[in-house]
Order: sequence, then C-alpha cells, then structure tokens
Amino acid sequence: MPGLLRETVARFGDREAVVFREQGVRWTWRQFSVEVDRLGAGLLALGLRRGDRLGIWSPNRVEWLVTQFATARIGVILVNINPSYRLSELEYALQLSGCRAVVAAERLRTADYLAMLQTVAPKLPALEFIIRMGDGETQGMLRYADVLAAPEAVDVAALDAIEATLGCHDPINIQFTSGTTGHPKGATLTHHNVVNNAIAVAAAMRFTAADKLCIPVPLYHCFGMVLAVLACVSSGAAMVFPGEIFDAGATLAAVSEEGCTALHGVPTMFIAELDHPEFATFDLSRLRTGIMAGSPCPIETMKKVVAQMHLVEITIAYGMTETSPVSFQSSADDPLDRRVTTVGRVQPHVEAKVVDAEFKTVPVGTPGELWTRGYLVMQGYWGDEAKTREAIVDGGWMRTGDLATIDAEGYCNIVGRVKDMLIRGGENVYPREIEEFLFRHPKVQSVQVFGVPDQKYGEEVCAWIVLRPGETCTADEIQTFCRDQIAHYKVPRHIRFVDVAEMPMTITGKVQKYLMRRAMTESLQ
Ligand code: ATP
Ligand code: MG
Repeated sequence: MPGLLRETVARFGDREAVVFREQGVRWTWRQFSVEVDRLGAGLLALGLRRGDRLGIWSPNRVEWLVTQFATARIGVILVNINPSYRLSELEYALQLSGCRAVVAAERLRTADYLAMLQTVAPKLPALEFIIRMGDGETQGMLRYADVLAAPEAVDVAALDAIEATLGCHDPINIQFTSGTTGHPKGATLTHHNVVNNAIAVAAAMRFTAADKLCIPVPLYHCFGMVLAVLACVSSGAAMVFPGEIFDAGATLAAVSEEGCTALHGVPTMFIAELDHPEFATFDLSRLRTGIMAGSPCPIETMKKVVAQMHLVEITIAYGMTETSPVSFQSSADDPLDRRVTTVGRVQPHVEAKVVDAEFKTVPVGTPGELWTRGYLVMQGYWGDEAKTREAIVDGGWMRTGDLATIDAEGYCNIVGRVKDMLIRGGENVYPREIEEFLFRHPKVQSVQVFGVPDQKYGEEVCAWIVLRPGETCTADEIQTFCRDQIAHYKVPRHIRFVDVAEMPMTITGKVQKYLMRRAMTESLQ
C-alpha cells in the first residue's frame, strides 16, 4: 500500500495533496510522504515490527493519515478505534487486537482520551506505548512529535527494504464495523483487499489528479480510509478535510473555498448540507462526483444532490467493512435514473448472488440475502474464528446480512437488513420501502421505520419522524397520507415525532434501529 503512495509521489510530487483546514495543514504529496517516512522510522526506533498492532484513536486529524501510511510501510497492523468509544469499548478494542502501541488525540469535545487511556492501560499488558498528539506532556506517554523527531536521520533505504518483505496478503488493518446492529466486530483486511477496492472505486468515479475530494466522513471508518483516502492516493486526487468531526457548514465552506470537485458522505450528511440555512451562499459549481453510501440513500436526496449541488456524476456505493468495503457501485456511465434508484452493479472481479433461507439462489428480481465473493472478502474477524465461520461460508462467500434484489441487467437494490425486516400478520414488511414513501411527505425531513413486538400481529410498523424546521404534524395526518397509497399492513401504527438529536446514531451517521426498537418497545409496555 505505501508503494501506492510512492508511485503517486513520483507522478505528482509537488502538487497539493493533503489539506486539513481545522489544523491549518497544507502539504504536497512529497511533503506528506516525508512525514510518513519520519513516523515509520520513529515507530521502528521504538521497536515496533511487522505484524504488531497499533491502535489509532482520533477524529479526523493529519496525524491519523500519517499513521495510516507509516504503519502500512513497516508492516504494522493499524487498528482503527471509533472516536465515540468510551472506557469499556476502548479496553475491548485494544485487548482484542493486542495492541502494542496506540496513537491518540488529546480529546474530542468533552471526552478526555488521555485520561481514559490512563484508566485502561494497567489492564492491558500488551500495551507498551501510548503516543499522544498535541504539545502537552502526560506521565507515561510519548509525544507524537517526539516519536517523529527521534531518529537522527530517516533511513529511506531501510524502510524500502522492510516494505519489500511485506506480502500483499499481509493484514494491513483491523477495522471495526460501525456497530449499527450491536457490538462492533474487528474485520481483518489485507493490503490486497483495500488497495484493489480503492482502485475500483476511483475508476467508477473517473478520479484523476485533477480532482479534489472533500472528506467529511470519519477516517476511522472504511468509507474514509478506503473510498476517500486510498481512492485519492491511487489516482493522485487531492484530499480536503473540513474538520475533526462532521459539520455541514464547514463541509460546504470547504467545498466552496477550496474548489472541490468531489464530495463523499453518508445520506444524513448530504441531508444536513442541503438543509443548511446558508446553503445558497456556497459556491458548489465545481462539484462533479462523489459517493453516497453507508446506509440506504433516499431517492429524493439523490435527486436533490444532483440538481442542487451540481453532483451530476455522483455514484452510490454499497458494501460493508468486511468486504473492504465496496461490492456494488454505480458509475458515471449508468443512466441517471439507475444511478439514483440502485446501488449500481457488482464491482469488476467480484461475484454476487442473492439466496433464500435455504441458501438457494433466488430468481432474478426476488429479494433475498446478498452474498459476495472475491478479492474483497476479509481474512476474518480478528480473534473470532466462530464468527468468521458464520460470516464466510461455502468456499469464500461473504454473507452480507442485507436483503437485496438484482435485476436482469445486474443493477442491485438494497431492500434493508435481514435483521430489520419485520413480519406483520404473516406479511413481510421492508422498512426501506415505507421510508421512501414517507420521505415524499412535504413536512418530513427524515424518517426511520422499524418493527416492534405486537401481541396481535407478531410485529407492528413503527416510524420515527424528524419534521422540517418549523413544521408541526400529527400521527393521523401521516396515516391519512399513507392510506390508499400503500398497503394497509405497511401503514405505521406507532408514530413518534423526534428531534434529530434523539435518533440514536453511530459516528458515521447510521441510525441504530435496534436502540430505537428497544426504546419504543419499552415505552409501549
Ligand atoms: P455492524 O455490522 O457493526 O452492525 P454496520 O453493518 O453498519 O455495523 P458497516 O460495515 O460500516 O457496519 O456497514 C455496512 C452496512 O451498511 C451494510 O451491511 C448495509 O446494511 C449498509 N449499507 C452500506 N452501504 C449501503 C447502501 N448504499 N445502501 C443501503 N445500505 C448500505
Ligand atoms: Mg455489518
């Protein structure tokens, strides 16, 4: 993977490559790679070696990016730790992966990362080095800047020699899944997995060194690391980071002031940008492409993004951490209606099939569980063979846990998660379909549909709705809107109007329906 960076430096060395607006960093490819080598040499000087694990716990900061490439250069496996984690999750992630070192930001908002690390460190015998960012001194910790400065001279030839010993099937990264459906799982990915995926993703977007990508998605997640960072490094496109954590205004300002040609985001980010009160004041005219992914992409949002943000070539990607991540993606060549309504077609060199409960392939167009196979499937869940065997079956097929249909031309629609489908009075109900319908209501800003237990019907349909600013609405009004338009058993029986902050969300902006289901079930008892 660092070989990838070296090639890009050779081709585009003096072009601007990396911009972290909040930290005031602006680097060319060459400057970036010098930092990577300094940190790589610094980590070697500490005694870290191929196969060791190093955790990174930070919001989007430049140190994150440097650490990603420095570890890959010396064969150390990077363990991405979710910036939202707190004590027990932090301990779990470091323990599970057996990290020898961790690179950590000082804090995120009110969360004091260094104090939390000091609390868990005594319970982690494998953890030898805590490398803290920032200027301060903390007892028992090293400073990131000192690790960078430690080697008197960076021996690039020695780094090259180490890199030459690495195999493409060596693990590069333990990436934790988002934790949308429960406990996050640590997917072990190889250089081969992620680099190939990034190249495919960049090709689908027609990315070149003339592009400049705005990256508001978190680096800790594969969306940031692979679809953004590695796709840029593989094509020479520049990276612009608007801030440590997502902010719609900062993202729009970055696009406008830096002249970005591309923008990534999960649907909730695009919705927040479109609804920003000063939306009209930003210059988005240079935008061309980008990726919407991570969770179901509402058709209305896609249409607005194309019409109002100039993202005429935007693509939807679908995938999961365990598949490096993208398995399906639309491309700029697809007709617009296919691009806004489907997740596109399977990536080159990847196989896909849709199966029923007996694992038999279903007829074209029938919903079932999506399975994928190919270079992109992870090695397994780190330290959990049983879970790996459940997830990867039958000669390498990855069970996605998602329900999908694939049409005769190969375009795929994600119907929802297997776990989110509900059965009401014997009828299968797909929440996604009802969400798309309710999204058309003029007062609805966003909506989540899920099932709750019901004595009579087994399960009942429940909707949580965020209204547009200043609007009021009743459950009756929503139910009347549904009647005669969608089948009676799909009409939400329980409706709650909530503030956007009440929706339980992962840091990647994915709604955790299992928590909503739990809250609603309790309140209905
Ligand atoms: P966990 O596995 O920990 O519960 P997660 O599945 O959300 O969390 P990720 O690997 O980050 O963790 O996300 C992959 C999932 O995101 C997919 O399985 C799918 O449900 C959803 N997803 C990703 N892209 C899309 C898309 N374009 N449309 C619909 N759903 C998507
Ligand atoms: Mg998952």
